[in-house]
Amino acid sequence: MTAPSPAALVALKSALGDGGWTDDPAEIAPWLTEWRNRWHGHSPLMLTPRSTAQVAAAVRVCAEHRIAIVPQGGDTGLVGGQIPFGEVLLSTRKLRAVRDVTPLDDAMTVEAGITLLEAQQAAAAADRLFPLSLAAEGTATIGGVISTNAGGTAVLRYGMMRDLVLGIEAVMPDGEVFNGLKRLRKDNTGYDLKQLLIGAEGTLGVVTAATLKLFPVMRSRATAMVGLDAPGTAIELLARARAETGGGVEAFELMKRIGMGFVLANIPDTREPLDSTPPWYVLIELVSGEPGAADSAMERLLTHAFETGLINDAAIAQNEAQRAAFWKVREEQSAAQKPEGGGWKPTSSRKPPPPSNVSTPVPGSAPSATSATATSTMTSCAPLAATARPSSPAGRKGRRSSTTSSPATTAPSPPNTASAGSRPTRRVVTSRRWKSAPCRPFGSRSTRTGS
Ligand SMILES: Cc1cc2nc3c(=O)[nH]c(=O)nc-3n(C[C@H](O)[C@H](O)[C@H](O)COP(=O)(O)OP(=O)(O)OC[C@H]3O[C@@H](n4cnc5c(N)ncnc54)[C@H](O)[C@@H]3O)c2cc1C
Repeated sequence: MTAPSPAALVALKSALGDGGWTDDPAEIAPWLTEWRNRWHGHSPLMLTPRSTAQVAAAVRVCAEHRIAIVPQGGDTGLVGGQIPFGEVLLSTRKLRAVRDVTPLDDAMTVEAGITLLEAQQAAAAADRLFPLSLAAEGTATIGGVISTNAGGTAVLRYGMMRDLVLGIEAVMPDGEVFNGLKRLRKDNTGYDLKQLLIGAEGTLGVVTAATLKLFPVMRSRATAMVGLDAPGTAIELLARARAETGGGVEAFELMKRIGMGFVLANIPDTREPLDSTPPWYVLIELVSGEPGAADSAMERLLTHAFETGLINDAAIAQNEAQRAAFWKVREEQSAAQKPEGGGWKPTSSRKPPPPSNVSTPVPGSAPSATSATATSTMTSCAPLAATARPSSPAGRKGRRSSTTSSPATTAPSPPNTASAGSRPTRRVVTSRRWKSAPCRPFGSRSTRTGS
């Protein structure tokens, strides 16, 4: 990579104008660290464009001067791809418009810098569902979840981000704008270029906006935590759940005892979700468009699983507080690993990624693959040193309610209101008690035997 020359930096500042950049090390510093403190980067300049045209202007200057860019959204990525190591940092946080929400064709077009949560809220305000959901959704941006091809917790029913994008607008490495904001579902014309940009982690261009698929709001939702002896049982249970509910499984999250232990030890306001302490847990969420139908489907599924000896402990959430508590022990799995110093990563991914892996390539340089994402191997290591940066990604302000018939009242912020300097605050921790009412054990040993 060529280090940005003084002339290039002057040209970039001039292209974006006042308020579109900062070279103040104190302002840039919070955006140079991955939130688990595993990677610490450096950059001479942070750009904060407010429009696609400004992104294009910046990329054109970089192409002319043959310098590299690292695009960054919410800085929640877990493999360090958003951290610059000498490159210009291009933050999309000010690309904030919800361009349109059109329930009649179940689609909406939003700019890259709005958060995933804001996208969900924009859909809910039109009585539609944008289904991608993950623990960092209060901070992760649409551009980021597209660029990492995020999966989240509803993949089984709705697919990955790759399945949820109808069209993309992006600035390519020469500064040209690729306008692929299509919304036609049955589109069989030629190459599907947007699919190259999804999951590319900024190596092929800067995503500036996307047209996303919307879905009907589900009218009932049932959530259960099940204890299991082995992952094989989970596979059997998942197969049954899918067959018996006709595709009603929205989430099926397998967790190991060690991860649960980290959550219980390191995250306030959490407690063991079941009476027993099984080696494996699975959080199941069933949904239906019919009011009440998800609850009866969950009862049938667990009764059958119990009677056939597949499971021996489970609890169904009886209210939103219990449901939130079940999700909390799932969603805090990443944050709970931070104080332990370990991660569900291969040892090789623990090094800072080389700069060429994370940059938008200048014309003529071949894009390279970014660092690998998680594998299932737990590596133990020494605790990482704490740094001054205290923040974690903001998560859900509360998961979608069990019956999401009421549109959310919180509208996304208007365009161009994000402040480049404002850091996400620490993840919202619910002040509710874990159990405001007893959870209903579903055929746990103690319940069945009365012991
Ligand atoms: C607590 C937690 C839970 C998570 N749970 C899940 C989960 O369940 N499933 C799952 O799949 N993932 C999960 N993730 C990972 C999550 O998908 C990513 O952190 C998120 O998608 C990144 O979004 P971001 O806006 O923060 O992007 P950043 O972290 O800023 O960037 C991520 C990558 O995308 C690139 N990029 C960002 N914006 C753009 C853009 N506009 N154009 C081009 N490139 C861009 C960056 O250069 C970088 O390579 C989780 C993360 C956290 C912190």
